[in-house]
Amino acid sequence: MLATQSIAVDTAHSVRWGRLRRMLWLLPLLSSLLFVAGVLAWAYRADSAERQDRHTTLIADALSSEAQLRDLLGVEIAHLQDLARQLPQLPRTSAGLAENYEVTEGLRRMWLGVTWLDANNRIIAHAPEQSGASGLRVGDQADGPGVSAHLTQTVGKEKLVLRYSPALLLRRGIPWWLTRKYDVQLIDSNEQVIASLDQAPLRTEAQGHESYMVAVGTNMPGAFLELTLREVVPPFWRTLPLVLMAGFLGLMLAATLLLRRQVVRISRAEAAWRTEAAWRQAMEDSALVGLRARDAEGRILYVNRTFCHMVGLSADKLVGLRPPMPYWPPDALDEVMLRNKRNLEGRAPRDGYEALWCHQDGRRLNVMVFESPLIDANGQQTGWMGSIIDITARKQLEERERHQTEAMAHQARLTTLGEVASALAHQLNQPLTVIMGYNAGLQRMLTDAGYDNQAVLHALSQQGEQAAEAGRIVRRIREFLTRRAPQREACDLAAIARRAADLLKRDLRTAQVDLRWALAPGLPQVFADPILMEQVLINLIRNAVDAMVGASPREGSVSSIRIAAQSSGERFVRMDVEDSGPGLHGRTVDALSAPFYSTKSDGMGMGLAICRSVIEVHHGGMDAGGSSLGGARFSFTLPVFDAQLQGQQGLQGLLQSDLDDEDARANLEGEL
Ligand code: ADP
Repeated sequence: MLATQSIAVDTAHSVRWGRLRRMLWLLPLLSSLLFVAGVLAWAYRADSAERQDRHTTLIADALSSEAQLRDLLGVEIAHLQDLARQLPQLPRTSAGLAENYEVTEGLRRMWLGVTWLDANNRIIAHAPEQSGASGLRVGDQADGPGVSAHLTQTVGKEKLVLRYSPALLLRRGIPWWLTRKYDVQLIDSNEQVIASLDQAPLRTEAQGHESYMVAVGTNMPGAFLELTLREVVPPFWRTLPLVLMAGFLGLMLAATLLLRRQVVRISRAEAAWRTEAAWRQAMEDSALVGLRARDAEGRILYVNRTFCHMVGLSADKLVGLRPPMPYWPPDALDEVMLRNKRNLEGRAPRDGYEALWCHQDGRRLNVMVFESPLIDANGQQTGWMGSIIDITARKQLEERERHQTEAMAHQARLTTLGEVASALAHQLNQPLTVIMGYNAGLQRMLTDAGYDNQAVLHALSQQGEQAAEAGRIVRRIREFLTRRAPQREACDLAAIARRAADLLKRDLRTAQVDLRWALAPGLPQVFADPILMEQVLINLIRNAVDAMVGASPREGSVSSIRIAAQSSGERFVRMDVEDSGPGLHGRTVDALSAPFYSTKSDGMGMGLAICRSVIEVHHGGMDAGGSSLGGARFSFTLPVFDAQLQGQQGLQGLLQSDLDDEDARANLEGEL
């Protein structure tokens, strides 16, 4: 339940993430928009602060200029008052007035004229003289272009009227640097220009110039000083950086559209590629053929799932590996390295080659490898692509068939041999019976004749016994070869071994063999044919003697044979015949017991074959290997006699139901 929930959450998460990833192309545009918005906000704030500063400066400049003008006017009023004080002493003529120091200085500064009026406003005198005749009134524009202004100073009933040029006032009162920055003018309450420092005064509202107006004060009633900024500061959104930003945004928009188109194209290509990759993966995974790509040096670049299963290693562990590979059989590395070199040189057989590989669990597998060139997108060969088929099962089948054929041939040979041996035994039986008859007759005749040489009588009795033994052997072999069941009975394997050794004591003595016994005490009885077992042991001991006699003796070593017997589990007794001879040189029991295999000049090669058959007929197992004495070891197991079991089935009964061959062999192999 929990797992299902977590899978659902994961799926939802990956769907959301996939959707988000598909929208990623918007990210540059969004970040650009954010950036531009930030720049706009900053520019707006900077512009507002700048405007505020500019406005404050404008006000300050206007106020200081107004104060300047007011001071200047104050000075002129002071001069006028001085003149008024001097009036009583002045001649009441224009010439007299014009000669006055205050008047001449005033005219030099900014006065346009001074008019002395009587109580009826008639002109008494006027300076300068030439313009004084017409009785001008205050505010008249008699002195050329520009508006004039006047100041009046009463002296008793008379008064002095001073006309001055506001334009000159401005020129004198406003510093030059301020006029560079501002258009300065004096205007009246009807916004009519009284005086201006410029020929063409700026129209504030229409042209977007910033201005500030301040009343000049009582000395110039109804007049205002107006400062207008010459520079028109465009709104911040019309400045170059912001125009550039707009351009940038436009470019980003175009780039985003192109990006989106590209993303859509890539997404489509990616989806197609994914589908194709999924198809390919599914095909590769379901293929029964192992695939392996290698570069020119033999390093693995890719393996499919089947290949991983074949060798029991994951793709992570295989990719990147260089020869020698972990799945090569360690006992044939040199040969495999040579084959690998041949393959990398491009000399691999076109119709494939067989190889033996090792699975990680130690299992061997037969594979058929087909190598073909690995070509990249540019048509260049970059390595080799191998297709591998596991042919282990097929090989095993072939091997089994071969074994069966061999077994059939073996069987046929054994049958022939059996028939020959049977005929031979039949033929030998006759002379042996005759020998025994003669021996018995001779003994009887000698006894009847009172012959008492015990040595001769003993030799004759031994001869008779040996002939009887030979007769028994021939009979048993004949019975065995004619497929009659062996005469099984409970017997003491240790006693049989001692008897066999006894029969061979002359050979052992001649070969100067030191015979050692290692028979475990209290061994259980085995269920076997004692005669056949005796023959098996005779054969093994004789082979050991032959091997030691045939080999050049090792310096200081004594030829020795060790016969050991012990219980093997609860159901078997095991016997080993070891020698200090030259050993088996790696030959297995299968090879040694192959019919007619012999390394002896007079050997028939049937001894071990018959021994093995005899042991296996008794449901035992046979094996061979190295001995602790330095030579060969031949071992076999025989089932323990179980009175109840074998009693039920009868001494002639067979053990197949309870003790099968596999069991016995497995027992022996497990022990060895
Ligand atoms: P044969 O004795 O007629 O050669 P066997 O079947 O008894 O036939 O033996 C087969 C071969 O096994 C021998 O020729 C010999 O090479 C090898 N062999 C058997 N026993 C021994 C041993 N104890 N040590 C070395 N080789 C042996």
